[in-house]
Amino acid sequence: MTVWDAFQPTGSAAGIARQLATGGPSHAWLLLGPSGAGKRATALAMAAALDCDVNPGVGCGHCRACTRIMRRQHPDVHHIAPEGPLIPVDVVRDQVNPEAARSPFEARYKVFVIEEADRMNIPAQNALLKTVEEPQPDTVFILVSQNEEEILETLRSRCTTVRLEPVAQERIEEMLRREGAAPEAARVAARACLGDLEKARAFAFDVSVADRRRVWGSLPSRLENPLAALDAAAEVAEEARAAVKERERAQREEVLELGEALGEGRGTATARNALAKRHRRELKRLEEEVLGEALTFLATFYRDVAARRAGARDALTNIDAKREIDLWAKADASDAALLAACERCLKARASFVSNANPALAIEATLVELTRLVPPSSPVAG
Ligand SMILES: [Zn+2]
Repeated sequence: MTVWDAFQPTGSAAGIARQLATGGPSHAWLLLGPSGAGKRATALAMAAALDCDVNPGVGCGHCRACTRIMRRQHPDVHHIAPEGPLIPVDVVRDQVNPEAARSPFEARYKVFVIEEADRMNIPAQNALLKTVEEPQPDTVFILVSQNEEEILETLRSRCTTVRLEPVAQERIEEMLRREGAAPEAARVAARACLGDLEKARAFAFDVSVADRRRVWGSLPSRLENPLAALDAAAEVAEEARAAVKERERAQREEVLELGEALGEGRGTATARNALAKRHRRELKRLEEEVLGEALTFLATFYRDVAARRAGARDALTNIDAKREIDLWAKADASDAALLAACERCLKARASFVSNANPALAIEATLVELTRLVPPSSPVAG
């Protein structure tokens, strides 16, 4: 088994796998593709292939290096993502570039995964360009983006560009089963993940993600009045806090590991500070992700109800909420109101990038959703 098993053997990701396996990897990559094309999953697989202890160039998926990379906890694999609407120039200048000039800490390559790379503003892209133009031999940049035209041509031309195609639902389901998921869990996760393999794995194997999903499933029938909506919003926020706490525990272990590895020698303060910064960003992002999960669930739920009413049973995203969807499909809410509710949730989710307080956005959204009156006899359980 390798980290590439999940990808189409004939797809673009397999092409990357071949290039990495034959050595002499490009030092800068640009992964393009629509949402659900598995860009982040590909970037992680690439990092694992580069830094695997057991099967270098391929990525075994099981060794300590691969496991930590997949959990985004490897000290040599850095994830950069927008904070707010942008990746500002100081993130590149103060964090990425100095770090890229240092040798890897323990692995063969130091890898930078820059998510939503198009959100680097022009100064940030230019700052990165300087480093990409004069690369360290053991540093690899992987830029991930949906918007090719927002990336400067000068930067693009330095990268090996790969266009990824979305992963088919059946393939994700098959993959999850092969990785040990129960058939029903694999089917539910493959639908609910909206083509995102990483998310599918979380739905299928991460107990806390599965538990959260049960909470999201209870939301539609609970939004009966503003007071109940505020209650529900508080519970959503509590789920986010719990996820943050869980991640903090993992982070503390990482700090201890780094401490043991570094000792108390010179320059360790910089490494510690960099790690602390990365951890804070990770927590902020995780909070947003969990709150976003709730909104995405609601959006797809209302869309499912409208689809069910139109007779499109096979097109449902949330097949684990089928009974509730059926109940709503027979109830009063108009198709227009359902689609408006779906839009409202998606808009709130999109607003997170520029919103200082996503928890407030959730409150406002859930209160608004009470205009859709839930069916009078909610499904028990
Ligand atoms: Zn490995």
